[in-house]
Amino acid sequence: MAARLALVIGGSLGGLFAARLLRSVGWDAVVFERNPEDLTGRGAGLSTHPQLIDILRRLGIDFDESMGVRLDTFIFLDQTGKTYLKAKAARTMSSWGRLYRALRDPLPAESYRLGMSLRHVEQGSAGVTAVLTDGSRVGGDLLVGADGVRSTVREQFLPDVTLNYAGYVAWRAMLEESEVPPDIRAEIFECYAFCLPEGELFLAYPVPGRNNETQVGRRAYNIVWYRPTDPDTLVDLCPSSNRSSISSRRRLSLDAWRCWGTPLSWRGRMWAPV
Ligand SMILES: Cc1cc2nc3c(=O)[nH]c(=O)nc-3n(C[C@H](O)[C@H](O)[C@H](O)COP(=O)(O)OP(=O)(O)OC[C@H]3O[C@@H](n4cnc5c(N)ncnc54)[C@H](O)[C@@H]3O)c2cc1C
Repeated sequence: MAARLALVIGGSLGGLFAARLLRSVGWDAVVFERNPEDLTGRGAGLSTHPQLIDILRRLGIDFDESMGVRLDTFIFLDQTGKTYLKAKAARTMSSWGRLYRALRDPLPAESYRLGMSLRHVEQGSAGVTAVLTDGSRVGGDLLVGADGVRSTVREQFLPDVTLNYAGYVAWRAMLEESEVPPDIRAEIFECYAFCLPEGELFLAYPVPGRNNETQVGRRAYNIVWYRPTDPDTLVDLCPSSNRSSISSRRRLSLDAWRCWGTPLSWRGRMWAPV
């Protein structure tokens, strides 16, 4: 009997996990990703958790040293940059691209189709059909909507669910290890660093380098800074956001707007809002 076929809409991490897990239990699964190009360069650093490692092992992906940079210290900084707490705790810091490659590479080329965008879903008694924006139709036994925060699948089946702006933006930067200033490198590079100005969160940690290198000297440094941002500023930062579609559930704290005296004074080369 032919394997049942799952159509997975969205070729990012959620879609890849769904496709790989379905394949591991005997299904066939084809992923449709609307981007025409590989997604490797999309993300930045990613802190791992036991659940992630367990699920990767279920897929036969060994979480070995190539998967990330192992740290054993968390460090908390005050707003002047002084350390107020250091704690021993192990964590492996990986990267979005490393995880993406590990999930995507074993999939046969014909099972990961780039440049294929879902227009809508048709549900029949014998199965489901994905109707794509190029007019093609693909039939299957199951359709998985892994098409992200602005999901076409969710919009069709749950039209009343709307986006609710959380009220903050994450600014992130990736530096090559060689670009990190020596004093910062000596003090905090090998730690999972946190700073918590009121209403904000700043994180920094080393991750695999541009080509997933984990050797000392060739790694990268990942920085994320979560900051309250009013809806008008969000629209300025991300013009594709529609002001009227952004509703804020909570009033932003004015305190959180005060300027943060930067304890870490370096230039991020690739600051970009996420
Ligand atoms: C720019 C960016 C960078 C991020 N970087 C990180 C990071 O470094 N570390 C981290 O932990 N988290 C990061 N995140 C958070 C991120 O949301 C998760 O890590 C993870 O990617 C979520 O996976 P997902 O598959 O649920 O959704 P998404 O990653 O949002 O993927 C949805 C996919 O569906 C595709 N799609 C959408 N509509 C259609 C359609 N109609 N037809 C076909 N395909 C469609 C999209 O192109 C997209 O590839 C980032 C998020 C963004 C937006």
